[in-house]
Amino acid sequence: MKTLVNTCILVALWLSISCQVSAESETNDDSQLSEALTYQHVNPRRAIQLLEQAIATASQQDQFIGEPEAIKRLWLIYLLYKVGLEQQAEKYGVQLSSREATSKAKPWVNLAEAVVELNKQEINNAQRLLDKVALYLDEHNNERLTMWHSLSLGAIESRGSQYEKALIHLNQAEKLASEFKNALVLMNVLSQQINIEYYMRQYSKALEHNENFLKQSKRLQDEFYEVFAYSNAMNIHYMLALQAEQAAAEIIDESLQKTKLQTAERHRKLSEKYRDLVLTVGEEVGAFKPRMRALIQLQNQFIRDENLDQVKALVAKTIEIADEQGVLYEKGVSLNNLAIAYRTAGLYQEALEALAEADKIYQTIQHPQSMLWALEDYSIIYELAGDHENALNYYKQYHQKSLELIQETNSERVLELQEIFEAEKSRQEIQRLNQDNTLKASELKAQQLQTAVFVGLGLFLATVLIFFYSRNKLITEKNTKLDQLNAKLQEQAFRDPLTKLQNRRFLKEIQPRMESSVIRRVHKDSDSKQKLGIVILDIDHFKNINDQFGHDIGDTVIKNFADILTTNLREGDIAIRWGGEEFFVTLFDTDILGVETFCQRIMQTCNQETMKIDEHEIKVTASLGYALFPLISDNPDWFNWNEAMRLIDTYLYAAKKEGRNCSVTVDLEALDDSLRSKQVILSADFIDKISTTSSYKKLTIRY
Ligand code: GH3
Ligand code: MG
Ligand code: MG
Repeated sequence: MKTLVNTCILVALWLSISCQVSAESETNDDSQLSEALTYQHVNPRRAIQLLEQAIATASQQDQFIGEPEAIKRLWLIYLLYKVGLEQQAEKYGVQLSSREATSKAKPWVNLAEAVVELNKQEINNAQRLLDKVALYLDEHNNERLTMWHSLSLGAIESRGSQYEKALIHLNQAEKLASEFKNALVLMNVLSQQINIEYYMRQYSKALEHNENFLKQSKRLQDEFYEVFAYSNAMNIHYMLALQAEQAAAEIIDESLQKTKLQTAERHRKLSEKYRDLVLTVGEEVGAFKPRMRALIQLQNQFIRDENLDQVKALVAKTIEIADEQGVLYEKGVSLNNLAIAYRTAGLYQEALEALAEADKIYQTIQHPQSMLWALEDYSIIYELAGDHENALNYYKQYHQKSLELIQETNSERVLELQEIFEAEKSRQEIQRLNQDNTLKASELKAQQLQTAVFVGLGLFLATVLIFFYSRNKLITEKNTKLDQLNAKLQEQAFRDPLTKLQNRRFLKEIQPRMESSVIRRVHKDSDSKQKLGIVILDIDHFKNINDQFGHDIGDTVIKNFADILTTNLREGDIAIRWGGEEFFVTLFDTDILGVETFCQRIMQTCNQETMKIDEHEIKVTASLGYALFPLISDNPDWFNWNEAMRLIDTYLYAAKKEGRNCSVTVDLEALDDSLRSKQVILSADFIDKISTTSSYKKLTIRY
């Protein structure tokens, strides 16, 4: 973690030191490169043109790619990405692999190719290419190459959520870059740091560094960077607004809530201000990517306002730019937004058509997160359109895919690092204060220097923006609880490590959506066979098992019991470890008979089989409380989820009292009128009250 602190300090330091012309940093004698790079800020297209000419001449003259040409190509590729000309950058990447390079040029070629692969999200390819550079560096001492290599390694690690490793590489790149006064690398380190802070939800820190980024781009008169900085600010303020809104929703104290809402409003305004800047400056400069993203954010705003016509117009505008530039991702997101706007307006057929188009694009570019959200959107639209079968089908797919995605994204690590980050924060502040005097001194020195020329690249900002925008799309959803779920899916582990079942936190996240969805369904059709079966299970006399065989064996019993649950569940159903030896099961798409069959199967398995653990044979039984949700079909709102849970818990308690190894429910629909009141049903002695009537239903094992 020390490296983290170092990185922060170094970044602060170099930002206050103006760097000299860095065109000379790679090849001191290459005047062509120098000339091209003098234009890169004020007129990047001119710089691109000059580099292209130089490369064309070189490739006509030389059979092999030499080191100077390779370095020019590397710069060119960086510049092309900066102005958004991805396809052209890729073209140069392909060209590189079609010609032989001298042994000195080879690692530079590999680096340039790696940058292209990285941008195409082909992380493994990029890694492979960087490995080659590493092999070269093992045998040759070349600090400039090391610097570039470390920078790319930082980018790769950062994309794999390995932030700590990323920071180590960035730190290395930064040290060398300060030595060589290579501002491109320094600027990149900063960009990546903003990314990492964003991913770790350190928004204020990200904002602080972004302000520096903006300051530098203005000094450089680099309008592209300026737009990148505005675009970053637009997104970070948007997230801060959202964060404050969510916090406000959780606060009970009214004055505190008001303060939070004011904060939210302030950030929203700032976000809008920066969005306007992206749109206006972006258009002047021709920075079409940030512009499209600002347009998408504007779409989101009109979706919130339920202004379909405006959304349509904005989507058309965005698609026009996207088609012009041959860009797919932003087109997909826009079409997806259009689907959401149609859905909000109740135009389900149109919504499905737009979503299908968006989904097709997501499939083409293989963007997993977007593909996931498309599944969810399908589910929501079908549900609102009354097509419950399709809705459920898509919801199950969505559920399955989200779990897969969490496992892929190293989620536990992110959470862990976030905590470390928090703990480190105060220590960093102190160190920063200590550095303050040094900083001030160097700032003075910096001001005395002539206009600084930075070479920088917004390459890595793009990734973070894609992430921002994927999120922005979601924010437009009305169901904010579900938005939170999606955000948290990114960073939280929802599994119990012992049983590998999902945990309580998972249920807490999906429950609101499950609840509202099933209630809506039952409202439409009270005879629906698509209710939720809920079962709470508790292993009997578990304490005895622990006492008799020890805790470890107790753990194995819990694990085996979880396995019994999963083998008896259908795909899409959910089993959760509720607490110690207590479990919770949700069965989708079922009726009371379905739930009872499940309970019978569990009890039967427990009673027919003993668990063989080490040399022991252990008989394990459980008690169950169960019900269908909603509890009352013709009045689905009568009991909410929490009330239902409380009631089912009392059923479980009744099963224990009945002697265990059985399951209990009450047929509330058949309850005597005198007892049919919420107060009676939710009272502690409800079961005692009705135990004399026929409504009380106890299931025992059926062989
Ligand atoms: P009942 O039939 O009434 O449920 O009796 P019980 O003994 O199962 O219930 P009780 O709630 O009294 O005890 C549960 C015990 O489970 C207490 C606790 O020490 C133990 N326990 C809780 N979590 C774990 C765990 O993760 N592993 C092990 N081995 N034991 C656990
Ligand atoms: Mg127990
Ligand atoms: Mg218990």
